[in-house]
Amino acid sequence: MGNVNKSRAIYPGSFDPVTFGHLDIIHRASQLFDSLIVAVAHNEAKHPLFAAEERMAMIGEAVGGAPGVTIKRLDGLLVDFARVEDAWVVIRGLRAVSDFEFEFQMALMNRRLEPRLETIFLTPKEDYTFLSSRIVKEVARLGGDVGPFVPGFVVTRLKGKFSTTL
Ligand code: ADP
Repeated sequence: MGNVNKSRAIYPGSFDPVTFGHLDIIHRASQLFDSLIVAVAHNEAKHPLFAAEERMAMIGEAVGGAPGVTIKRLDGLLVDFARVEDAWVVIRGLRAVSDFEFEFQMALMNRRLEPRLETIFLTPKEDYTFLSSRIVKEVARLGGDVGPFVPGFVVTRLKGKFSTTL
């Protein structure tokens, strides 16, 4: 990585909404780097359930001022964000083989766009390897208990979303 700042990492994602899987990765990454930026992708094309501001607020509430962790909004390309922030390590979570192909493609594309950018994959606690925001939304939408998968205030917000849209 040559002469670049190695103490700052970026954890980018949609976090729609944040789950215990994301929080596990944030915790692990924050122990490896002095500073970790959780970059919340705006990306309206993905039609997120929660607005970017809501997603950021939920992460903020969950992380609760953990030392070295900041939450920022990500608009546009990750490589541009990395240049602005002078942060050259990207953290991604790998849950299972099914994540691999997409993550591998993204990592190599980002490297092609910006050779200084290095992607590091972290594995969550076993209990969270089946967890995704998508499946949490699906269970919540159908009225299932998502309490074991997301913080309590996220459960409340999910209930709010689905009770008004039904
Ligand atoms: P994206 O839309 O960019 O995939 P996500 O919020 O779904 O955003 O995921 C962000 C990152 O967190 C990805 O690297 C994803 O693999 C990882 N991730 C999501 N859920 C989990 C989990 N349960 N355990 C570990 N990593 C996870």
